[in-house]
Amino acid sequence: MRTIRWLSISLLAASLALAVGCAQRGRVDAASTAAVAGDRIGEVVVTPVEHASLLLSWRGKTLYVDPVGGGELYRGLPAPDLILITHLHPDHMSAETLAAIGGHAPIVAPSSVKAALPAELGARIHVLANGESATVAGIPIRAIPAYNTTPERLQYHPKGRDNGYVLTFADAQVYIAGDTEDIPEMRALRNIDVAFVPMNLPYTMTVQQAASAVREFKPRIVYPYHSRGSDVAEFARLVGTDSGVEVRLRDWYPAR
Ligand SMILES: [Zn+2]
Repeated sequence: MRTIRWLSISLLAASLALAVGCAQRGRVDAASTAAVAGDRIGEVVVTPVEHASLLLSWRGKTLYVDPVGGGELYRGLPAPDLILITHLHPDHMSAETLAAIGGHAPIVAPSSVKAALPAELGARIHVLANGESATVAGIPIRAIPAYNTTPERLQYHPKGRDNGYVLTFADAQVYIAGDTEDIPEMRALRNIDVAFVPMNLPYTMTVQQAASAVREFKPRIVYPYHSRGSDVAEFARLVGTDSGVEVRLRDWYPAR
């Protein structure tokens, strides 16, 4: 009995320590990611925030991608010079979070996002439709389609509405896929240095679809993201080591 009690106290202490550790790690990821924190890939710094939200830093500029989750999550981070929004679902677009972040940074988004946001935010939007390109805040951006192809998933992301983006920095091309399946437009990409690829059902795709596409378009580095509930280790295994693609597994779901 005594041993059992001691054991449960130790287990409790261990899980508390783990929980505190996770919480601290979450806070570090979210709050201390000044432009210098995160994964450095050449001059690009990648900072996962949560789920589909991330920051990219490059030569003193800060880009927010799909910032949601409330203003608190972005406190202490550099203000955005550019905001990219892939589509209007609440895990990608939040008027409250955008208002809390504040500032006057231009926002790149599809027209459906502009229509869904209040006018004062909408006024900052540079609309890009699938296939269109523009240079905004000094960054060349190409909008890539993002959509479902599996019959029972078509309602989530109908073709033509949502965007992925390819950003061209001086020494790196970064692809943010948005919510999509393994569409031909993704498979046809070339010379991508860093890719963010979603995998979760029913909204995007399976790890098998994602790995198959990655093995075809061969980004130098791939981050599985928007992956809640998916076996990202299995994704990494399926991408394999023979493909020349480096899979970076990061904590996109920090305890808060
Ligand atoms: Zn979505």
